[in-house]
Amino acid sequence: MHFSEPKKRFKFLLLSLTLCFSFLFSGMTPSLIRAEEEGEDPIGDFVTRAYTLILEREPEEEGFLFWKESIVKGERTAADLVNEFMISEEFRARDLRQEQQMDIIYHVMFDRDPDEAGISYWLFYLDCGVSISAIINGFTHSEEFTTLCKKYNIVPGEVKPIENRDLNLNVTAYVARAYNIFLERKPEVDGLNYWTGRIAKGEISAAEIVNNFVKSEEFRNKGLSQDEELALVYLSMFDREIDDSGKTYWSEILNNGVSISYVINQIACLDEFSALCAKYGMLPGAVELTCPRDKNYPLTAYLAQGYPFLTNRQATAEELDELVASALNGSRKVEDLIKAIVAKEDCWNYLSDNEAFLRAIYRVTCGKEATDSQINSGSISLNNGITRYHIVTEIAKTADYKARLAEMGIANIIAKPEKVIALTWDDGPNAPVTNRILDVLEKYGAHGTFFVVGNRCRTYRSCLIREVNLDCEIGNHTWDHTSLTKLSADGIRSQISQANDAVFNITGIRPKIMRPVGGAFNNTVRNNVGMPMIIWSVDTNDWKYRNAQHVIDEVLSHARDGEIVLMHDLYTTTADAVEVIVPELIARGYTLVTVSELAEYRGVEMENGGAYFSMRG
Ligand code: ZN
Repeated sequence: MHFSEPKKRFKFLLLSLTLCFSFLFSGMTPSLIRAEEEGEDPIGDFVTRAYTLILEREPEEEGFLFWKESIVKGERTAADLVNEFMISEEFRARDLRQEQQMDIIYHVMFDRDPDEAGISYWLFYLDCGVSISAIINGFTHSEEFTTLCKKYNIVPGEVKPIENRDLNLNVTAYVARAYNIFLERKPEVDGLNYWTGRIAKGEISAAEIVNNFVKSEEFRNKGLSQDEELALVYLSMFDREIDDSGKTYWSEILNNGVSISYVINQIACLDEFSALCAKYGMLPGAVELTCPRDKNYPLTAYLAQGYPFLTNRQATAEELDELVASALNGSRKVEDLIKAIVAKEDCWNYLSDNEAFLRAIYRVTCGKEATDSQINSGSISLNNGITRYHIVTEIAKTADYKARLAEMGIANIIAKPEKVIALTWDDGPNAPVTNRILDVLEKYGAHGTFFVVGNRCRTYRSCLIREVNLDCEIGNHTWDHTSLTKLSADGIRSQISQANDAVFNITGIRPKIMRPVGGAFNNTVRNNVGMPMIIWSVDTNDWKYRNAQHVIDEVLSHARDGEIVLMHDLYTTTADAVEVIVPELIARGYTLVTVSELAEYRGVEMENGGAYFSMRG
């Protein structure tokens, strides 16, 4: 180059500040003049040619020199020249059809008429929304253009910068296809650039494009039916009409309460979608499921199927999301979700009759009709003041319920507390003391076990009902507090069954555990008691000392994970002690559980006639 240094820097600065045909400098440089004088100016010819073919006029001096100069200096390429002419205001103002524009590109870049195949190939992509720059860029790497550029002694180059929609023509075609199928229109440039850009960055997958369009407000506003939406999802992901078996299969899944995103995500795993994606050079990917109800299909299906039985209507998407979300974050078990539905006004209105409620709740929770004995015991419970909530709690303990969850593929996560302890009270009920103890348990949300004496139950029936409703456990402590070791087999069985009947007749619930009087048992007792025998590992001797501080000290000094603590709900001093013990144990990190809960957490399968003193971890 022959420029003097200051001038060169000045021009370079201007060139880098602008891309348009600005008035940059006047006068020809010596080198250019010389080239023209000698009659050999291939680059100049290329520039002139572009003016003639694209703008259909002679170049003006400034423009000619600007282009020639930047090409000679390597600041612009042949591709830049063609591109900037084709996107210039002046060219746009000619308002040519796409075919005419392509004809020009073919002539300026290939020096020939376009062929049919080329035209239809590029018209397809132009129709998808790629820009004319994409064609130019597509041609720059061809042999034909390279050969032409060689002739004019010019670097072919490529178009820079390039819009997202021109980065990958097949990806653009895929996005345009989604616009066409779901929104029934051509994409707008901004939208096309947005989606193709996100795909280029790897932010979203082919499946997520479908999902985003289906979830878009524009699509939702069409208010299509479930079947119509499914048909469009099929068309977009399989490129075909939905068949009857597909419609049945996916409709059933949607009717189980999940959103269309769940279905899209499932379809994204199928080979047919992979095959379609391969045509567009894309990976199917997966949909990021955001609705809680989509994240646990079995649970959502279980709740959605149960809802109409309890409320006489389908659950809304919001209701399912809320329920499933609370199970996903671990704050509620499956039975707690059923309880939440049971608490709804819809349920009370629809199932005001207790028997109707019982039939519905068994159908929903266990997936089968309630037996006569279940209706009978449930009716006793409800008629005597046990809550519907607690009916669900009791059902949740049954094998039928657990089997149903397993059958539905639902994992009911039971958060196992770190430290557990079972407080137990014998010889009640005794309303003045029992109720004070229950007040404390209720206040702190703690559970305990009451081994009741059968012949006291009728007198203190309200205590039993309250114990059940507070999720405490009722155990059998014989009919009249007789030591079982003194009795015959028949005598033992009678003591047990009489007490169990007494509890059942009030609560509708049969005790599952017992405690022999004085903790005493022999082989006859073992063989005839017919229930697990729960003894104890911490003895407060509250009956002997009748001193609250003594009870407090005994419990707190012996408290360990898995202990079973013996007290009696007969003495006010015991109630005084419980008021201190319960909050203190909780403060020390214990969860206060029933004996059956303790066994469940410890994985202990209690056997009839077995004696259990503690269940330490
Ligand atoms: Zn006793």
